[in-house]
Amino acid sequence: MNIETAKHSGFCFGVKRAIQIATETAQSHEKTVTLGPIIHNPQMVEYLQKKGLHSIDDINDIQDETIIIRSHGITADNYKKLKEQDKKIVDATCPFVKKAQEFAQKLIEDGYQLYILGEKNHPEVEALLSYIDDTAVVVSNPDIEFPKPRKGRVALIAQTTQSEDKFERLASRLLSYCEELQIVKTICNATILRQEATRNLSQKVDIMIVIGGKNSANTTRLAEIARAEGCKTYHIETQEELKDEWFEDVETVGITAGASTPNWIIHSVKEKIKEMNETK
Ligand code: SF4
Repeated sequence: MNIETAKHSGFCFGVKRAIQIATETAQSHEKTVTLGPIIHNPQMVEYLQKKGLHSIDDINDIQDETIIIRSHGITADNYKKLKEQDKKIVDATCPFVKKAQEFAQKLIEDGYQLYILGEKNHPEVEALLSYIDDTAVVVSNPDIEFPKPRKGRVALIAQTTQSEDKFERLASRLLSYCEELQIVKTICNATILRQEATRNLSQKVDIMIVIGGKNSANTTRLAEIARAEGCKTYHIETQEELKDEWFEDVETVGITAGASTPNWIIHSVKEKIKEMNETK
């Protein structure tokens, strides 16, 4: 059985940066917490917890700790509250997420009706909306009905981890309802590379194993892309979820991992698949 890993998979620049900032801060400050999990990978969050870096969900639970803002960013309201309370803040928001927030603000200021391709309840989109007073229309699926534009001038951006295909479909649908459409592709390059690599690999293997948090938007998208190519696909978080029957009559296995999946998890999955193959 051949096992091939996607050309681009695992940690992206923004996640590496956030983890580095978080671990350095935890080492140099006595009490440190992250507001929400630093990244969407439960195993990495648990690993960091063991190193003393805890995550809290409610801003009111913060006492005298230094607060690390996670890669997805936080809402404008929470940021203001932390500043007013004079809390110590270390900002690990990914620069590409910040860039999308700036584009959103500029497009609203310029008078466009803004559409965002994304998941309304994802922390990145919640933060994005908070900087524009919730004035955008969020569309998660361009193939079903969504509120039509009220203005002739419309703009479109995306959550950084959305798929290019969906983005193009939404752009094309919006174009039929307005006179002017400003498109800013805020999908980050790491996302595009991982999606392309997953698509290419899933076209040539018998099954795909997609590794990453079940709560990770970008990992879930990789699994969707592999399935859309007609490839039998399993989304797992760790090697413990692998099942012998998945590999029956399988000659080639493709492996990919979301931008928040650490290398040690990818490695342990590969090793486990090799071991299962040897004991068949
Ligand atoms: S996926 Fe892109 S936007 Fe998200 S953290 Fe990674 S580099 Fe930043």
